[in-house]
Amino acid sequence: MYTFKVMIHPNNKQMTKIRRTLNKCIECNNIIYDYLDSFLKNNEKIPSCGDVRKWFTIQKSIKDNEVIEKRKGLTKKEMISNHLDTLFYDVSNDALKQEIKDTYNSFIRYFKKLSKYPVKKKNNNYKKSFYVDPYKIGFSNKKVRLEKISNNKKPNRQRLNCVNMAEKDRIPLNANYYNPRVVLEGDRFYIVVSVDDEYAPKKKITTTDSIIGIDLNIKAVVTSDNDIYKSVTVTKRYRKALKKEKRAQRKLSRKYLQAKTLKKSLKESKNYIKQRKIKTKYTRRLRNLEESYFDYVITSLKNKRPKEIIIEDLDVKEMKESDNKYVRKGLQRNPFSKLLKALENRCNNYGILIRKVDRYYASSKTCNICGYKKTDLKLSDRTFICPNCGLKIDRDYNAAINIKKYALVNN
Ligand SMILES: [Zn+2]
Repeated sequence: MYTFKVMIHPNNKQMTKIRRTLNKCIECNNIIYDYLDSFLKNNEKIPSCGDVRKWFTIQKSIKDNEVIEKRKGLTKKEMISNHLDTLFYDVSNDALKQEIKDTYNSFIRYFKKLSKYPVKKKNNNYKKSFYVDPYKIGFSNKKVRLEKISNNKKPNRQRLNCVNMAEKDRIPLNANYYNPRVVLEGDRFYIVVSVDDEYAPKKKITTTDSIIGIDLNIKAVVTSDNDIYKSVTVTKRYRKALKKEKRAQRKLSRKYLQAKTLKKSLKESKNYIKQRKIKTKYTRRLRNLEESYFDYVITSLKNKRPKEIIIEDLDVKEMKESDNKYVRKGLQRNPFSKLLKALENRCNNYGILIRKVDRYYASSKTCNICGYKKTDLKLSDRTFICPNCGLKIDRDYNAAINIKKYALVNN
């Protein structure tokens, strides 16, 4: 499976329609969440997904009728400021159906102890998305056709459903599409869709026989050839952007309170909207910096043309709950799992094998020459000094060599 992510340029009308669908999906999520949550609070068994969907179909018409009732005698502007401008009926049914399934599954995952207790979706999340039926989506070389983007009743309204894409000929035509989604990140819209592997752009490289071991830690990525790629989160650029983002967020919440005290809705408060744009800009800057860092690390690894890359099988979730304050804090902002995911995906594409070594193998505590295990090594000891053979080596470099060796032995 290969995933494409392409930016789209909806026009003004389409943009409003997409935003409305996103908002309705979040409303749907909240309704289903409350419904399922009430069952759990009373220690009752939750109904099946089909029953929840049937229940929601009734709720949908009740809510829509309520809105129609409230709309009477209001002008269009008043309708918008009172959030009465959209009905569930106006948005794509597939998007809502999938939203119910997703919410339901998040509860099921909690029961199976695969995840924490689900959280409600919020309207001000940086990233929002809705599902499009793969049989109804259509691609041409420049455009993507979505469902219910236009409510025009003219015979040629199919054309109005077509949204311009930013890149030509990127997504393969006539493929099987999986889980297509319209995504809003900050203020930019994307279409994300998966296709079978045969449609993936071919980037296979000729590899040499070398093997690279990698030690990942909060501050850097260290390879067994002693190349150090400093983590993006410790760079000056990132820190500056982070500071600016935090400041923008503080200002935003002040604007929010201002609007609340003046009893204005957020849609009407121009100061709030202006500040939100500024905040989004910095959030995007942080994400872009992260992504360019991933590119840099992965490309430099690829240019060595290794046959295999060996990484530690880290449990990031477990590390986030670690007793060590510094580990927890360092991970808060660290795009650790994103980097691992990107590395795996891209290496698959290049034809480089990725292998994971045992999570509980003590790579940093073992001497890479004589194999002595130094059990009292602390996190603060940056150099590894072997009491057995006297080896003096950087801690992470030692770990990277050990990871490589471990993979060679357990081949
Ligand atoms: Zn030693």
